[in-house]
Amino acid sequence: MNAHEGERLLGMLLDEGYQEALTPDAADVIVLHTCAVREHAVHKVVSEVGRLARLKNARTMLKIGLTGCVAQSDGASLLGMAPGLDFVVGSRAVVRLPSVLRRVAAGERVVDVADGEYLELGLAAARRDSLRAYVTVIEGCDKFCSFCIVPYTRGREYSRPASVIVEEVRGLAAEGFREVTLLGQTVNAYGRKEGGAGEGEVDFPELLARVSAVDGIERVRFVTSHPNYLGEGLIEAMVRLPEVCEYMHLPLQAGADSLLKRMNRGYTVAEYMSRVERLRAAVPDVALVSDFIVGFPGESEREFRATLDAVEALRFASIFAFKYSPRPHTRAERWGDPIPEPVKAERLERLLVAQRRIADEHNQSLIGTLQEVLVEGESSRAPAHLEGRTRTQRRIIFPGPAQPGQRATLRVTGIDRGRLVGRVAATPSHVA
Ligand code: SAH
Ligand code: SF4
Repeated sequence: MNAHEGERLLGMLLDEGYQEALTPDAADVIVLHTCAVREHAVHKVVSEVGRLARLKNARTMLKIGLTGCVAQSDGASLLGMAPGLDFVVGSRAVVRLPSVLRRVAAGERVVDVADGEYLELGLAAARRDSLRAYVTVIEGCDKFCSFCIVPYTRGREYSRPASVIVEEVRGLAAEGFREVTLLGQTVNAYGRKEGGAGEGEVDFPELLARVSAVDGIERVRFVTSHPNYLGEGLIEAMVRLPEVCEYMHLPLQAGADSLLKRMNRGYTVAEYMSRVERLRAAVPDVALVSDFIVGFPGESEREFRATLDAVEALRFASIFAFKYSPRPHTRAERWGDPIPEPVKAERLERLLVAQRRIADEHNQSLIGTLQEVLVEGESSRAPAHLEGRTRTQRRIIFPGPAQPGQRATLRVTGIDRGRLVGRVAATPSHVA
């Protein structure tokens, strides 16, 4: 999401007549786009501003600013912490970045963290890729998981109108994009909220159908899904729509009901598992990916073992695992950070070791299968080879022949440092 916001910020500045500088020391304006989800965010940002502010000696014109969730969360206090900083524009105020820049150019130091309209910037985003595009469909979050800063920094959930999203995707297809990834903190909650733009009109499965119907769009992905909105409608859409890829990022966060309750996640492990079972029955090849937090306040060894058990039982294609860090504004902040760092580190390692074994076994099971691949271009790893991604979002290296943007059917022949290796198969019509 932040990577795509970077593209939108850049598009906005290009629209304002700015040009992209190739290096920081050639820039008149430097914008640091920040994430506040995990620890040390403020500390890192303040030291980075200090480092960049040294460039001001040589370039008196240079202005440095912060955008994103650290800006939103810490606001004016950042000016005191980072003397080299000229402006702070929060996640919810980003619509006013151009006017803030004009005030900064006139010599003001500006902090703007007030709510603004959702910015319909998508059409102007300066995207980095030419085949695969991100499209934000739902902003903010209303779930208030007790560990999470997002509802405080990004504000209330807001679904962009389906017609605007489809128009953006049509524009992308016309530019040559072949794949879109729909983005949201709880992307599959799209259109549910009363008063939201999608309300009563289009729910998430219907949005998937409309985006898939856009001519030229061959693949549709979406992240991140919340387990509570993984209903039959979504599963049916994944089965019915050939463009929708077999990939589901569905964070579980912890494997003990007691922890899930303290985290305010709104589901039990058994509920999560039964939804996954239904999904897998309907979409057998689905790559299930999850997030976990270890060392949440009060996490006992027994609770942690339940997380390990869940990882063993659910056999994720991959996981993202994080050590808990207390975040300002959140409900869990008042419980402090009682789990010692070495315990967190040890639990994280045990979790990752277990997952590495599961991922290796999963990789081995892919050898010999046929995979549909969207060819991206030359491999960054193997000279004279091409690289693309499977429908399940796995990178695969192969010798060609194929053109970027083409779809090819490959047979997986091996694994190289976690990446699949394959060759073009003789029977492209039979995709496993
Ligand atoms: N909306 C997504 C998650 C957004 S944050 C969802 O609900 O799944 C991305 C991930 O960061 C979370 O899934 C969680 O695992 C992790 N995370 C969030 N807050 C955290 C915290 N305080 N400490 C450690 N990890 C955290
Ligand atoms: Fe944070 Fe929970 Fe919302 Fe995800 S669903 S963004 S973890 S509050």
